[in-house]
Amino acid sequence: MQSDAYLKCIDPQCGLEYPVKSTNVECEKGHLLDIKYKNKPSDNLKEVFYQRRNPQGNIFNESGVWRFRELLNFCQIDTENIGECSKYLVSLDGAEGRQSKPYKMSKAAEFIGISSDTLWLQPEGYNPSGSFKDNGMASAVTHAKMVGAKKIVCASTGNTSASAGMFAANEGINCDVYIPSGQIAPGKLSQAYQFGAQIVEVDGNFDDALKQSLYDAKHHNGYTVNSVNPFRIEGQKTIVHRALEYLKWESPDWIVYPGGALGNTSSCGKALMELYEWGWIKKIPRIAVINSEGASTLSDLYNGKFEGEELRWNDGNPNTELIEKYYEYLDKNKIRPKTKATAIQIGRPANILKGLRALEFTDGVVTTVSDSEMLDGMSVVGLNGFDCEMASGASVVGIKKLLEEGTIKKDDVVLGILTGRQKDAMLAVEYHNNPKNKFAIPPKN
Ligand SMILES: [Zn+2]
Repeated sequence: MQSDAYLKCIDPQCGLEYPVKSTNVECEKGHLLDIKYKNKPSDNLKEVFYQRRNPQGNIFNESGVWRFRELLNFCQIDTENIGECSKYLVSLDGAEGRQSKPYKMSKAAEFIGISSDTLWLQPEGYNPSGSFKDNGMASAVTHAKMVGAKKIVCASTGNTSASAGMFAANEGINCDVYIPSGQIAPGKLSQAYQFGAQIVEVDGNFDDALKQSLYDAKHHNGYTVNSVNPFRIEGQKTIVHRALEYLKWESPDWIVYPGGALGNTSSCGKALMELYEWGWIKKIPRIAVINSEGASTLSDLYNGKFEGEELRWNDGNPNTELIEKYYEYLDKNKIRPKTKATAIQIGRPANILKGLRALEFTDGVVTTVSDSEMLDGMSVVGLNGFDCEMASGASVVGIKKLLEEGTIKKDDVVLGILTGRQKDAMLAVEYHNNPKNKFAIPPKN
């Protein structure tokens, strides 16, 4: 199999390249890697993707990830033959991404103050493991299978471990999940336990757990499936592909994500760069990243709140010293990321440079919202009959905030991504038992 895909360092001054079977998550100088494709996908694929919506028994057409397989074709799949596809592609029986598309949610639109004709919210929580992670896990585990990996490894506070555990169980391979000891409600890990993953406790926070997991994967034959793995980013591009296909490849004005490790921001940026380069979209949507006030690394750096400099990708010359200084400042002052929205409780976003590149390409913005705002966002989504986790509430209230400050205009078309389903049921119970909360419906007797 001759692949047209390869890995390339994202730093334009470095540009080191590696074969597609490499399991490096960074170049030898420590920069992040991209998957690159030598060939441009054919224009008539739009029609092929549409036809696959009648899957005719092929799970890889049912899959919301593999339906777009030619746009992440590092396996060089060029067939509708299910037997041939299943030799290479990893899927949860076609269920990953299958239910995700943009929806109208009138109560959320009313809360935000925007027309329900121009607001779209795309719940990724209806993936099999309950979050957007299944999109990227399908592609990462496909690559793990390509290189013959026997064990996948991740650091996680919930969503990634659930997804990795599910895929590992399905493929019959092992899965190690690194967690910060004593910091995670055991309920958040119930899926990982259920799917037979091995939990590894690490002293420290999420960032420390990730560091340890990367070290162990490298030195003990593990395959890393956190979003620093560029193959994760490939599958996550299909969140954007599905949305744009639904919108008939007419770009919205904005795509809004909660900001954690910035894998979503990175994959959205890469998808848009590719689609624009291929001429599939004429307009580049602007990305808005919504940080929690308690875990606001990107917002602080991007908006010049640290040492007065607005950190930018700067055409591939970002001021990485400023990032290091910021991390030193956090350590020195013992500032730990703190928010109840644990999915985005991250102080050192592993994909910050790819995130900055995405923001530069899309003229993006970054802002913050509070925990109580996120809970309102989460709750109003519920009133539309959709379930989402607290971090997803950031997309809703982030849109509201950007609209109120005039960054998003009244008639802009806005797509917000709801990243996962509720994994901490007590959040909703506590919210509704406090009558002071905006959307609370307290119990009565
Ligand atoms: Zn490099």
